[in-house]
Amino acid sequence: AKYTGGDRGREHTSALDATAQHHAELAAALRRGLELGEFRLLYQPIVELPAGTVSGVEALVRWHPTGGPVISPAEFIPVAEHSGLILDLGAWIMDAACADAALWQRDHGSAGPRVNINVSARQLLDPDLPGMVADALHRHGLTPDRITIEITETAVFAGGAALETVRELRELGVGLALDDFGTGHSSLTLLRTCPVTTLKVDKSFIDDLNGTAEQEAIASSLSTIASTMGLRAVAEGVETRDQAERLHALGYRYAQGFYFARPVPASEIAALLDDPVLA
Ligand code: C2E
Ligand code: CA
Ligand code: CA
Ligand code: CA
Repeated sequence: AKYTGGDRGREHTSALDATAQHHAELAAALRRGLELGEFRLLYQPIVELPAGTVSGVEALVRWHPTGGPVISPAEFIPVAEHSGLILDLGAWIMDAACADAALWQRDHGSAGPRVNINVSARQLLDPDLPGMVADALHRHGLTPDRITIEITETAVFAGGAALETVRELRELGVGLALDDFGTGHSSLTLLRTCPVTTLKVDKSFIDDLNGTAEQEAIASSLSTIASTMGLRAVAEGVETRDQAERLHALGYRYAQGFYFARPVPASEIAALLDDPVLA
């Protein structure tokens, strides 16, 4: 650590250095992990209400370092973003998710689940992203309507180029979902300029549904905004039967959450298609 004067300054600096070093080590381990094939995708069903029929799945990445416990994306995605490694990891995720989507389409035809794939802010700033997506679709013989790319409001606002990339993605014909909808700053403005097909209403608006009338008014307005604009609304983070019933009553047709199903390996999805989660 560089000595910066007083004790407080020095401690502060070394704490920062420790964090930076931790990040550098983690980034190196991530890079190795990518080479060694230590990443896996889980899939969480997105269901149609009220029956709970699986209509799609969201791909959620996990890291299984050799000899260690599974690491959640909340821990390594920020490091992957910061180090730029998200570009290679993101390409791996796109390829793996398209491979699974192709298997589901082969086995179940149009009833096979469509696949939602998360794309991070850093990826949206990559001018090669639309080409990378088109390539993955082509290699797996998928039509673009089989996948939906999930982006966040914050990412679209990060820079002018991001919005242009989003438009190119939409021109490819893939679905576009605005993730964590309502938690960004300019949600409604963004809807006029960003060509999304789906709003994923953030869990924070779903959590207290059986609380106050205000909570219900907000959840209900968000689904109204979506349907008025011809978009799908998906309620995120549904954990109870009460919430699922309220959401259906408030006009939600799609939902996702632990109440219906947790994220599972691809091999467990077929059973959920034959046996709807709420049946
Ligand atoms: P997200 O895209 O908003 O994904 C939803 C997260 O909420 C997932 O956590 C999911 O397991 C969790 N979840 C789903 N239903 C419930 C519920 O009923 N209750 C609660 N408490 N949680 C629920 P996960 O898999 O840990 O992912 C966390 C975040 O990491 C994701 O949030 C996303 O921002 C990021 N992420 C995950 N996979 C990827 C990926 O492949 N690429 C990128 N760029 N980011 C990813
Ligand atoms: Ca998501
Ligand atoms: Ca979300
Ligand atoms: Ca069942």
